[in-house]
Amino acid sequence: MADRYLRFAGTAPGRVLSRRLGLPQPAELVRWSPERPFHEGDLLHLTAEPSTHEQALRDLLPRTGMKVVSASAAPAVVVLDATGLAVVEDLAGVHAALRPVVRTVRPGGRVLVVGVRPSQYDPEQAAVQHALAGFVRSLAKELGQGRTAQLLRLEAGTVAGAESTLRFLTSPKSAYISGQVVQLGPFTEGSGAVADWSHPLAGHTALVTGAARGIGAAIATTLARDGARVVCLDVPQAAQDLERTAVRVGGSSLPLDITAPDAAERIAEHVATTTGTLDVLVHNAGITRDRRLANMRDVDWSSVLDVNLGSVVRTTQALVKSGLLGEGARIVATSSVAGLAGNAGQTNYAAAKAGVAGLVQALAPGLGAYGITVNAVAPGFIETRMTAAVPLLIRQAGRRMNSLGQGGLPEDVAETVAWLAHPGSAAVNGQVVRVCGQSLLGA
Ligand code: NAD
Repeated sequence: MADRYLRFAGTAPGRVLSRRLGLPQPAELVRWSPERPFHEGDLLHLTAEPSTHEQALRDLLPRTGMKVVSASAAPAVVVLDATGLAVVEDLAGVHAALRPVVRTVRPGGRVLVVGVRPSQYDPEQAAVQHALAGFVRSLAKELGQGRTAQLLRLEAGTVAGAESTLRFLTSPKSAYISGQVVQLGPFTEGSGAVADWSHPLAGHTALVTGAARGIGAAIATTLARDGARVVCLDVPQAAQDLERTAVRVGGSSLPLDITAPDAAERIAEHVATTTGTLDVLVHNAGITRDRRLANMRDVDWSSVLDVNLGSVVRTTQALVKSGLLGEGARIVATSSVAGLAGNAGQTNYAAAKAGVAGLVQALAPGLGAYGITVNAVAPGFIETRMTAAVPLLIRQAGRRMNSLGQGGLPEDVAETVAWLAHPGSAAVNGQVVRVCGQSLLGA
């Protein structure tokens, strides 16, 4: 559904009026397109001393495709190396490095602070590395003009496995993500090899549930762009739309209710008759049945819990157990900011979506040992049929109540899924990544 206010605020009279009336001033976001695969302009590499990864980052940053400089009047991306900060006094280096440049970052640009995992043995280092999270979340709220800020935490001592994440967080693909902390985990040398960075999923098969429309259709499109052969799954009632998505992405369609007791077997059978392997599983199917708890019928509760959580638990476990998802596989589930923060009228939905976040965190260490990653995306307000059904005033509030002052697009979630599904993202495991423009709901 069109966001008319966003369009109006982008016009000259709209800008004047919204400023005069003190209304939000959302900026048009800079999103990925084949013509604009990375930000135009410089990537400014700054260091807050001391650094433990300076040379490694110097070697890695040009891999983003951008021109890396040590001084720039108007950088599109600023990367601040804060990897060696270990005592409180070191934080002065963050202030000193970013204060002079923060106003010069181009509209739609990025600030990426690179830290390390907080230590279990050095409380002051841990405090300082945690301080970076508060800093970034606050900066993200100050930047405006479609600019975003994130914290990327490396595994101490190495940038191995960081490339796909650095590329994603510095690119237009992460337009609707802001104020987030991404923690990289252990990375086994040799895992996550990427043959072709422009088609990282070439030769891979991905299954996307709820692919007939909305976010699921966008995920199917984006994974196909990245080279995957996509199996599109949705309920039989949506077979027509499902077939349309499948044809558009050059994949196959599997009309199936994901809550069916034999869903995993049906998926395995379908895969066996097409590509024979499954490398990426995206749990996107979801429903809402919003009512306050006092008015909630049994069926509203049970259907939402079963589609949004029960089926995710069952199919993940069955497909891993059967070996269909093996070494190198990527599992991405869909949580929700409403689940992380809580939302009146959504006790069923929020319980299910918080369960999804808990599931990926619980599964990650065990599956990681087999080279399988499992992560979740937590969308905020995304412009789809689901949010078009929200009453007008709540819909307007949902759009504006985030640092970017607008709703996200299905593509924003799809790009995040594509990063998590990337063969190069072997070090990203057990993360719950909010795609919400830094929604004011929850942390
Ligand atoms: P949507 O309603 O437009 O699409 C959901 C799709 O899932 C539909 O095609 C539907 O037929 C399918 N589906 C529902 N039940 C199914 C089942 N039992 N088996 C197979 N397919 C089934 O919703 P959307 O906005 O595209 O949301 C996609 C996902 O993102 C959902 O999990 C949703 O909870 C989550 N999410 C959306 C938003 C948002 O703002 N749109 C925010 C947070 C989370």
